[in-house]
Amino acid sequence: MKTETELAAPLDALFEAARKAAENSYSPYSKFKVGAALWLTNGEIVTGTNVENTSFGLTICAERSALVRAVSRFGPAIRVEAVAVTNLNDSASPPCGACRQVLAEFVLRDARVVFPAADGVRVMPFSELLPFGFFLEIS
Ligand SMILES: [Zn+2]
Repeated sequence: MKTETELAAPLDALFEAARKAAENSYSPYSKFKVGAALWLTNGEIVTGTNVENTSFGLTICAERSALVRAVSRFGPAIRVEAVAVTNLNDSASPPCGACRQVLAEFVLRDARVVFPAADGVRVMPFSELLPFGFFLEIS
């Protein structure tokens, strides 16, 4: 387990990568420009941004966008060690419920998640963000 000090610099870099990804946001309807960055256990950082659609329900969030990109690039065995999410609107933007469930498929339980909250930037373990995620178990 890494210490907070060991994690601080990489998390800053990850947060900056998420901010940079937000600049590519396609958000003509909400104007809410979101970026996400995933730090994979293979050392790679993969980013994504939100892509809206005129049929609003088809919009994809930055977190899922990054995850789809990561699996496409590195395959289904990827594991995510840390997640950063931010936006260019100076708003709180923790991952939405849908993204938490989708991230759960690939995120380590002790992965750190960094995001702007109402009271400033927060870092919390993924297990606290989604304490009761769904995992299919068929017997
Ligand atoms: Zn989402």
